[in-house]
Amino acid sequence: LFIAFEGGDGAGKSTQAALLTQALTETGHVVVRTREPGGTPVGEKLRSLVLDHGQGEIDARCEALIFAASRAAHTVQVIAPAMARGQIVISDRYIDSSIAYQGAGRGLGTRDVAQINEWATANLWPDLTVLLDVAPLDGRKRRTAGDAAEDRMESEPDGFHADIRQAFLDLAGEHPDRYLVLAANRPINELAAAIDAAVGTLLT
Ligand code: C5P
Repeated sequence: LFIAFEGGDGAGKSTQAALLTQALTETGHVVVRTREPGGTPVGEKLRSLVLDHGQGEIDARCEALIFAASRAAHTVQVIAPAMARGQIVISDRYIDSSIAYQGAGRGLGTRDVAQINEWATANLWPDLTVLLDVAPLDGRKRRTAGDAAEDRMESEPDGFHADIRQAFLDLAGEHPDRYLVLAANRPINELAAAIDAAVGTLLT
């Protein structure tokens, strides 16, 4: 089983990924929790490369390809092997983040970005994608004094985050079979309960 958490910056993805990991582990499942960009040694290097670069050093296409390269490593080294062992993979972000950030946010086109990522992952899609839908202003409030990644997104205008939010909602509309959409401003325990219920259905 492969579960991805998606949503804008400050949506609370890591919190919910951690809670779900804990809940599943307590009921005896083996969970591999991972994140993108990153998830493998080469992926973490690519993460630093793309998140720590200076303004204007990496253009949008280059950025999209670095994310796709990181994801190719992640899929082949971590996600597919864990699934083959019958383990549950929980990833903080996956392909849909690229479609939203690089395709919509950076204006590269959602179809092109989807295609390079389908190729990079040999078409491996999550069984469940949990979208924590966050309004740009809420997200901005929640990612206060933070790491380099947060600082990087802090400089983007609200319009950029609004485009990303809409792209995620569009993806959810196109793939209702694998999407669970939740308003990120709901109480943490309510969100966790809704996610547990959706995962429970997939496990039975
Ligand atoms: O989710 P996380 O905070 O780990 O993501 C790191 C940063 O990379 C975030 O600022 C996120 O907005 C950005 N990102 C991106 N394009 C992606 C995935 C993440 O710009 N495809």
